[in-house]
Amino acid sequence: MIYFDHASTTISSSAVLSYYQEVSKEYFGNSGSLHKAGFLSTNALEKARRDIINSFSLKDYSCVFTSGATEANNLAIHGFSYRYQARGKHLITSLGEHPSVLETFRHLEKEGFDVTYLPLDSKTGAIRLTDLKDALREDTIFISIMAINNETGAISPLEEIRELLSSYPKIIFHSDFTQAAFKGLPHSFYSLPDALSFSAHKFGGQKGHGFLLFRKKLFLEPLQYGGGQEFSYRSGTVDVPGALTTAYALKLAKEYEQEGYQNVRKIRSFIVSYLLSHQEEYVLHEGEKNCPYLLNFSFQKKKSSVIAEALSGKGIYVSTVSACSSKKEEASTVLLAMGIDKELAKNSLRLSFGKENTLDEAQFFIETLEKLRKELINRS
Ligand code: PMP
Repeated sequence: MIYFDHASTTISSSAVLSYYQEVSKEYFGNSGSLHKAGFLSTNALEKARRDIINSFSLKDYSCVFTSGATEANNLAIHGFSYRYQARGKHLITSLGEHPSVLETFRHLEKEGFDVTYLPLDSKTGAIRLTDLKDALREDTIFISIMAINNETGAISPLEEIRELLSSYPKIIFHSDFTQAAFKGLPHSFYSLPDALSFSAHKFGGQKGHGFLLFRKKLFLEPLQYGGGQEFSYRSGTVDVPGALTTAYALKLAKEYEQEGYQNVRKIRSFIVSYLLSHQEEYVLHEGEKNCPYLLNFSFQKKKSSVIAEALSGKGIYVSTVSACSSKKEEASTVLLAMGIDKELAKNSLRLSFGKENTLDEAQFFIETLEKLRKELINRS
């Protein structure tokens, strides 16, 4: 198998899986219980929380464990909008966000909030600062702009957004960092947003785990009510082994960051050179600032779904658009938001790399793609 779909999910390493098994046995106690097993779990949970906060050097931030980035995004968008609605009801996001962000904003519109959706720039694949500046209003209370786009790898101008917002101290800036945990962004970027969402299975942890980080001075309205766990922001018995494994996978991701980054850069540029030498067949969707973990291109004359299926038959796993929308056979909303032609937006392929991929795999991918292109010449 050649796995070029790490942005959908990563394969947990044996080290992570054994760690999970080990801590599941050791910290079986309910962190709410008033006995020794409960105290052990509480202490372990608080250590996992501290470790995560320290990994990003965000000592002035709180960490709430969630079931993933979908929940973290929902919690941040709902939570801050409702909590601070007395200040105003205007919210801003971009059309390139993940559905867990976009659909939450669409829901808030029905609840009486006013939302501005910024388009993406065709060259950078990210929002234009001028559009954001024009959208800001007296009653704007909350902005959500992702760090790295999950389909194209475009990097958002987070420093410039922070700079612009310095004249608007009351606006809360949330960023979906799901594709950006130790993926080569300068570490100083973590402290630019007021709140950040993460999902463990995107950095080597397990599905169903994630967290929201946010400045300690901020407060949220919860999404769910109950026993008051996680500072009353996320009631429900806490998955302590899950939290510990998330912290452990994050530590490993940080340790491998440099090595992984150099590796995927080589792989990506190797494939990009091939695509650029066949421009009659492929259109590369590359932003000026692109994360090397992702590569997105369209076929000029072929259906990407046919190619993805054929590649899968040869043991090469890639995505057409993102896993969250790929079953709908629709054009990529991210590429459409960049103003890309609908047929091209329907026929894009996303490759996403991991530290264990090799140049030999990239070579095999190119050879297979060449063969398929010739074989499928009359079929799509
Ligand atoms: N945001 C982005 C940018 C993503 O790529 C994903 C996963 N595809 C999510 C949010 C949601 O993550 P999860 O499905 O783990 O909740």
